[in-house]
Amino acid sequence: MKLKFCGAARTVTGSCHLLTLDNGFTILLDCGMYQGREDEFGEFNSNWLFEPDKIDLLVVSHAHIDHIGRIPKLVKDGFDGNIVCTHATRDLAAIMLLDSAANQEKDAIWANEKNASRGITEIEEPLYTTDDARFCMPFFSGYNYDRWYLIAPGVEVYFADAGHILGSASVTLKITRQDGTETYVGFTGDTGRWNRPIIKDPVQMPLVDFLISESTYGGESHDELPGDLNHLLEIVNETCVRNKGKVIIPAFSVGRTQEIVYMLDKLESSGKLPRIPVYVDSPLAVNATDIFTMHPECFDAEITDYLSHNDNPFGFNSLTYTRTVEESKALNAKNNPCIIISASGMANAGRIRHHIFNNIEDADNTILIVGYCSEGTLGSRLREFPDTVRIFGKELVVRAGIKIIDGLSGHADQAEMLKFLDNQDRSKVKKLFLVHGEYERQQKMQGALKGAGFSNIFIPELGSEFVLD
Ligand SMILES: [Zn+2]
Repeated sequence: MKLKFCGAARTVTGSCHLLTLDNGFTILLDCGMYQGREDEFGEFNSNWLFEPDKIDLLVVSHAHIDHIGRIPKLVKDGFDGNIVCTHATRDLAAIMLLDSAANQEKDAIWANEKNASRGITEIEEPLYTTDDARFCMPFFSGYNYDRWYLIAPGVEVYFADAGHILGSASVTLKITRQDGTETYVGFTGDTGRWNRPIIKDPVQMPLVDFLISESTYGGESHDELPGDLNHLLEIVNETCVRNKGKVIIPAFSVGRTQEIVYMLDKLESSGKLPRIPVYVDSPLAVNATDIFTMHPECFDAEITDYLSHNDNPFGFNSLTYTRTVEESKALNAKNNPCIIISASGMANAGRIRHHIFNNIEDADNTILIVGYCSEGTLGSRLREFPDTVRIFGKELVVRAGIKIIDGLSGHADQAEMLKFLDNQDRSKVKKLFLVHGEYERQQKMQGALKGAGFSNIFIPELGSEFVLD
């Protein structure tokens, strides 16, 4: 049996690992898109480190684009096996992949217009189209958590809740070898945190012989507790009540937006939220919120209890969801205090850039950053409290306040990761591979895991292959 690392190797995006069984049967774990540096983007995403038509099965950990983003291309390039994931991941994937395809179509049109204006005749094609995204959906099959399912001859899968986003799971494969023995291969996917809003806490994986583990926050610890309502309320009161300004929140449409809305919902139902309008300005967030309400099996005890005396944890009187561009533009004209939540979370694209552009030069306003922002994005620039920023080619003076809430991070820090893996039998785990992390942080995670009694810990390079025996 062999394992090849085809993505998220010494970096955090493009999750993709290829398991080849003794009999030649091939299982891909995740099929993610690389979202890092722009100059490496096309190269990684257009090329495979395997032949797509030779892949027999795809198992998916969760619906973030860096874990599913190349599935329409995989199918377009010849894959025709089953795609196995949890029910909620399947439903989120449907809207995420369509949104991703629409963005790529838009980017290609924009690039071709730019090329044409420079006299370049070469045509740039999108990685895949909305038709390709629709076409791949019948390949998906949804499964439940916490049960073993036979998904191919001699291959069983077990999804345990990863507590990262709705539907997220760790993947454990039980493989019956040709000599009748069983080998367990585990893949953490992205591991979440305990006590986060809405979704359940991470559930430890079954005991495994080989483990692929994420390592995003090696050497790091999150200081803030998840879902601190008081911090959010303070920022809203200071900006909207005292300064009569606007709070602008860049947030991912899936996950972070629902968490913020649920926090505001709780403040509203307890009578603490000031009477100001709240806008969620993202069509994808509207669709994602519908999918959240369809999957109460993924909810934690707190929101389940909350639901028993509130109709909707993602809706209250002063909250408006906006879908159309006209509605979005109309928000610019409003001068009254309000909260605007919009995507993308790193403010590198989407409607949020317009809201930041229109509001950053007014000292009454606050830009509230609630998530991780990759280097080179507007979000990461704002996290440095700059004096000026450049948006749409214009240099703007940053007069608005910039506030950061880091407690909503969706990834376990180092201590939480060690807690998550603590049930594993150190003498059973023969090899442990670290993926989904910057190399420096992976080295720190490697040291911490060694200290916790694990051995044979590898940090594979892209394209490297290991024998699992
Ligand atoms: Zn993720």
